[in-house]
Amino acid sequence: MAKDKNKTMCALNRAEELKSKIEDYTKIKDTIPNGLSNTVEAKIEEKKQKILSLLKGTEADWNDWQWHIRNRIQDIDLLSQIVKLDDSEITSIKKVQEKFRWGISPYYASLMDDNKLNPVRLQSIPTILELNQHGSIDPMGEEFTNPAGAITRRYPDRLIINVTNLCSSFCRHCQRRRNIGTLDTHKTKEVLQESIDYIRNNPEIRDVLITGGDALMLSDDTLDWLLGEIYNIPTVDYIRLGTRTLVNLPQRITENLLNILKKYSPIYINTHFNHPLEITKETKEACDKLSNIGIPLGNQAVLLNGINNDKFVMRLLNQQLLKCRVRPYYIFHAKSVVGTTHFNTSIDDGIEIMEYLRGYTSGMAIPTYIVNAPNGDGKTPILPQYIISRGKNYVKIRTWEGKIYDYPNNFTQDLGNLLKENITN
Ligand code: SF4
Repeated sequence: MAKDKNKTMCALNRAEELKSKIEDYTKIKDTIPNGLSNTVEAKIEEKKQKILSLLKGTEADWNDWQWHIRNRIQDIDLLSQIVKLDDSEITSIKKVQEKFRWGISPYYASLMDDNKLNPVRLQSIPTILELNQHGSIDPMGEEFTNPAGAITRRYPDRLIINVTNLCSSFCRHCQRRRNIGTLDTHKTKEVLQESIDYIRNNPEIRDVLITGGDALMLSDDTLDWLLGEIYNIPTVDYIRLGTRTLVNLPQRITENLLNILKKYSPIYINTHFNHPLEITKETKEACDKLSNIGIPLGNQAVLLNGINNDKFVMRLLNQQLLKCRVRPYYIFHAKSVVGTTHFNTSIDDGIEIMEYLRGYTSGMAIPTYIVNAPNGDGKTPILPQYIISRGKNYVKIRTWEGKIYDYPNNFTQDLGNLLKENITN
């Protein structure tokens, strides 16, 4: 009896200790803008009504993804009626737009407010910092990895087809901003056909990622044709789609689109949420619709200065994603791309976040932190150190709480030989 009491005391003490480890997060969590909170939801609804009235749109228009594309906000006067802009911001946008295109879907604009540091605003409205000349236009050397059609090939068994330069909103941190240009252009059917032929003629390709721009900016008919062609190549195991519409145009997930996607299973979708504010009732519904037809969803966040290079923000983001059945997949270290370097962070920021996530939240909420090697030499995972040192028969490991253990490392015999020896003996 006394022994049981001891065990309970131990468990209670440990529970208290564990609880104290997240006190800092518990205090700060509710101060992070979160699109699923009632207060933020009400503000978004209010902004939506304002935008609808400015654009003379209806509720039916709001639910029509093509209406959002037709009414993409790209006019300073209109923008300044949606959020407060001071003179210096207006001057900055005027200067930047001479060089880089900007555009915001009405839906995504409904998440902005008058706070200049609002994370959606920072990702959508050009600032003068974009005119900084640091960085390179194509740090990944993608232009040198295009063997045919619209293909980028950097790995042995998989490749990308860049089908369009169109996005429903143009992210200010876009790492492929060289492709955005001045006009919306989908790849022609001939170019897409050349890409399909390349895959057919290279049977080692088993994984095809369709992206852009945004893969879901293609019309339903073109998507249906393209997915069907790739699906019918027997050496392709599955297709992936890269889209940010789940974040900035959830209306794109229509019944018709779902019926098309259902035909070509297995399909995986990777999206790009960067901040908990972006996870709203509408985005959750869109994610649910895709999950309900069996499409696994993953998130590829980009680590962005002033937006999510904060351990608490990243933790809330990943936890909210799991509520929407989106598995945090990658955190990309932002590359040094001209016009976006003000968003760059140090690698230490990323390591601190990874250190903080492990143990403090479920493993499912922990993505892999990736630095893309220069010249397209591949994704390189970066982790805090958990192996402190190693000896002949042990590895010294560090746990998430900083406890150090010598872990035995001597079980290296071949199982077949072991069995043989034991039978002989
Ligand atoms: S959706 Fe993707 S491709 Fe389009 S602007 Fe944003 S980051 Fe770039």
